[in-house]
Amino acid sequence: MTKRQFLKTGLTGLGGFCLYGMLGCDRQTAPPPDAPRPQTNGASPEALPGHPAAWFKSLSNNRLQCELCPKRCKLDSGERGPCRVRKNVDGEGRTLAYANPALVLEDEIARKPFFHVLPGSRALAISTAGCNLACDFCEVWDMALVAPEDIHTYQMEPPRIVDKAESGGLPAVSYSFGEPVVFYEYMRDTAEEAKKRGMLNLLHTAGYIEPEPLKEIIPLMDAVNIDLKSFDPQFYRRVVEGELEPVLETIKLLVRANIHLEITNIQIPTLNDNPEELREMCKWLANEAGPGTPLHFARFYPLHRLSDLPQTPISTLEKAHDIAQDEGMEFVYISRVTGHSAENTFCPSCGEKIIARTGFILDDLQVDEKGKCRHCDRQIPGRWNHPDKKKASS
Ligand code: SF4
Repeated sequence: MTKRQFLKTGLTGLGGFCLYGMLGCDRQTAPPPDAPRPQTNGASPEALPGHPAAWFKSLSNNRLQCELCPKRCKLDSGERGPCRVRKNVDGEGRTLAYANPALVLEDEIARKPFFHVLPGSRALAISTAGCNLACDFCEVWDMALVAPEDIHTYQMEPPRIVDKAESGGLPAVSYSFGEPVVFYEYMRDTAEEAKKRGMLNLLHTAGYIEPEPLKEIIPLMDAVNIDLKSFDPQFYRRVVEGELEPVLETIKLLVRANIHLEITNIQIPTLNDNPEELREMCKWLANEAGPGTPLHFARFYPLHRLSDLPQTPISTLEKAHDIAQDEGMEFVYISRVTGHSAENTFCPSCGEKIIARTGFILDDLQVDEKGKCRHCDRQIPGRWNHPDKKKASS
């Protein structure tokens, strides 16, 4: 079963609903975004495939350098990056992942996962094809590791996404499931529209982005969850096809920007579950991101190129949880083990259970709208109040 099939099943089981085909989305009837450019002299930019892309620098001979992510690809005319969505079209940088989401669905904010953002609320999640990494354990490989023209997509401009979220009474739009960095321009324009209408923007990303584009998008975001896949540079090179250092730089930049940050680490048996490495990672997080940063240890399930590995033993997740607490992290979670006590939030001051969950479903909330523990008044990091729509529109 693919991740997307799994999600559809899971959402139905949770009493939610998948919005594939239910949003009144138009199937994409336009030519594929990468269709050959019409042979017209002096064609307007609208006639080019895709949408104008930011963060391209011109080089000689019609070459371009993409400065969106640390891969910094140099592309000849007609070439696209390994992310499959950013392309040099006759010397002009274009993105093929604009307004053509492959996934649009209403989902629990806790599933992003954000455990400290509007508990019990749902968001409209969007994602497109493409990714600038290539994880062996990719959970959405049938969307992320393909080009937009190779899968079913919708035509939905940013205002339409926000309309759908608004008409569904949802307080937030989330950019998740696939890798939002590769649909940067679509995310930016949607986030601007959502912000104008007083909604929250939630970003879940691998954090593989250059600092300048990140700085530009930070003011639009209300919370970010970074997948820190390992603390071993070799793991990043071998299993992810990226580098660790830029991800750490992204985390530091987000911390300096004072944005609400959560971290996710999938524990993969034998590949990144070494206790010493984990301790180093948790030490670094406690120092750089701060002990109040929620940290999720997610269970790995065999899939994609790692289907020969077993799922993560619960004891491994519990060990990781204990190491993180040992290093001072105050909000440590085990996710995807429904019913485990480490799905809940405990107040670090009084020890009371302040958010009770079953899986991603909220059972009880003992944090007030100002983010204070109802038992001892301790401030809990996160976004606890719904956005003020009146303020946004005034
Ligand atoms: S976003 Fe794509 S084209 Fe740009 S540098 Fe990264 S992989 Fe290359």
